[in-house]
Amino acid sequence: MANLYPEHLIEEIKQVNDIVEVLSDFLKLKKRGANYLALCPFHNEKTPSFSVSPSKQIYHCFGCGKGGNVYTFLMEHENLSFIEAVKYLAKRAGIELPRKEIPPEERSKYEQLYFANQVAKNFFIKQLWETDDGRKVLKYLKEKRGLSEETINQFELGFAPDAWDKLLNHAQTLKLSEVDLVKAGLAVEREDGSGYYDRFRRRLIFPILNFTGKPIAFGGRALSKEDRAKYINSPETDLYNKSRVLYGLNFSRPHIRKLEYTILVEGYMDLLALWQGGFQNVVASSGTAFTSEHARLISRYAPTAIMLFDSDQAGIMAAKRCAPHLMAAELDFKAVLLPEDEDPDSYLRNKGPEKMQEMIENAPSFPKFIYDTLRPPFEKLSARDKENVLMELVNVAAQSDSSIRRELFLKEASAIFDIALNSLKSELDRLMQKIRRTPKEEVKRSADATSQKIQLQILAVLIENMNLLEKALLEISEDDFSDQVIKEIYKKMQLLRSKNPSMDVSYLLNHISDPEQSRIISQASNMELGTSDTERLFSDLARRLRALNLENRRKKLISQIASAEKAGDLKRAEELTAELKDLTARFSSEEELTD
Ligand SMILES: [Zn+2]
Repeated sequence: MANLYPEHLIEEIKQVNDIVEVLSDFLKLKKRGANYLALCPFHNEKTPSFSVSPSKQIYHCFGCGKGGNVYTFLMEHENLSFIEAVKYLAKRAGIELPRKEIPPEERSKYEQLYFANQVAKNFFIKQLWETDDGRKVLKYLKEKRGLSEETINQFELGFAPDAWDKLLNHAQTLKLSEVDLVKAGLAVEREDGSGYYDRFRRRLIFPILNFTGKPIAFGGRALSKEDRAKYINSPETDLYNKSRVLYGLNFSRPHIRKLEYTILVEGYMDLLALWQGGFQNVVASSGTAFTSEHARLISRYAPTAIMLFDSDQAGIMAAKRCAPHLMAAELDFKAVLLPEDEDPDSYLRNKGPEKMQEMIENAPSFPKFIYDTLRPPFEKLSARDKENVLMELVNVAAQSDSSIRRELFLKEASAIFDIALNSLKSELDRLMQKIRRTPKEEVKRSADATSQKIQLQILAVLIENMNLLEKALLEISEDDFSDQVIKEIYKKMQLLRSKNPSMDVSYLLNHISDPEQSRIISQASNMELGTSDTERLFSDLARRLRALNLENRRKKLISQIASAEKAGDLKRAEELTAELKDLTARFSSEEELTD
């Protein structure tokens, strides 16, 4: 870990940033006993196995094994470097850090990408406010789209000028190379290899921010009808994973959590209009296909999603595409049906926020939405078209893992379309047969499972009560650990303890850089020990481990003696037999001691 800041400061920053509070900015945590549970952000799941311990100030996922402290979380979840995680938490707690800049040659891959995005964001903002062309766009935003300066500033809108190399040239003055910009998705290499050009040109720019407010990508909206693509977005980069990011979520998370539902819109402009109109629990899928990962992302903050799309065919199609994903994430969802020729932005400006609120509150269920948008109406459709409409709904229902939810959804459809529930259900059964997943492979158990389990338990006890580390020095040696990862952790713990007697598990995790080691530590620290007498438990486990090791050694010696005799090496056989005698003596004294 880079020692840019003194150790005590890093500890202090961690201590004033409660893990439950910090993680609540990213996850929906529910109190369960002494701990908090959430859906794991690191793997796909529908029932929460991600546990956060306020007393230990660590997290652990029982599903995928990820674990760590506030720093590790930010590093893994937000792709921050350690230094950036420290900076973020310091800022969050209002702690002033000594001013230090990371020299370019020491920046990590991620830091360099963040830097490139930051440079681009500032460049685009400056172009919007300080150039003639930019000011025209600004005027359009204010007068034609009704955006306030406050909104424009908060969302850090910018303008990409009508030129091929302005950003490239500007970046070079800050020692960013063309390759840096290509990696950040900001420049494109010419096909004939003769150089590079700016990806974003003559466009209104929407920075896409991660949860810590840093730009990781950009959306560019065309400013004239001549431009072929209405939207151009950054490609995926090491920072930007399209299916994990929703535009605006960094701002709307607290509002979504508070209001307990998410408004889902398509465009950047729709989002800004709603935000400014007081609807701040809103996210936009802008320019990317909405996926189940997106749905799971919003399900972490609220149980309900309201789709608010344009009233045209494209908007209806978008709602149809989103529905299966929302169902798969076990969200309750509805779709607002705007009057024809309206989009969220125009509706809000023409009718005002009260009407919009009414529309949202009275949003029909998804089956009702489908029924209402059918042209010609359902009753006038051919039998085949009717079947297609209903099968689409059955397919949406099939995405849920809950049979109750599936039935409730179909019941709604059955009432609205006036079709027997049983017909829908038998179609559902047929469909489910087809998509039924194969059962999970059974976890293979290793032959050393018992020893392994004891070693992990020993680690768990030592983590629970670090005062036992001194006792451990007397009762076991590091070679008693056959598990190399646990052995390394044990050595590290002894070393750290000698330096810092008040070490806790979070401190320990700060000094572990190997992800497998942190995984094992967080797993161990979440184990149920079943007793508060940790000292006794430790002695018991240590004895069992020693006995197991002796037994294994004994078995090995016996087979070695046999092969030595077979090979006629009597001297070797004799030596081994002596060793075996010695071992057996130790073995029985061990038994006596503990019985
Ligand atoms: Zn997980």
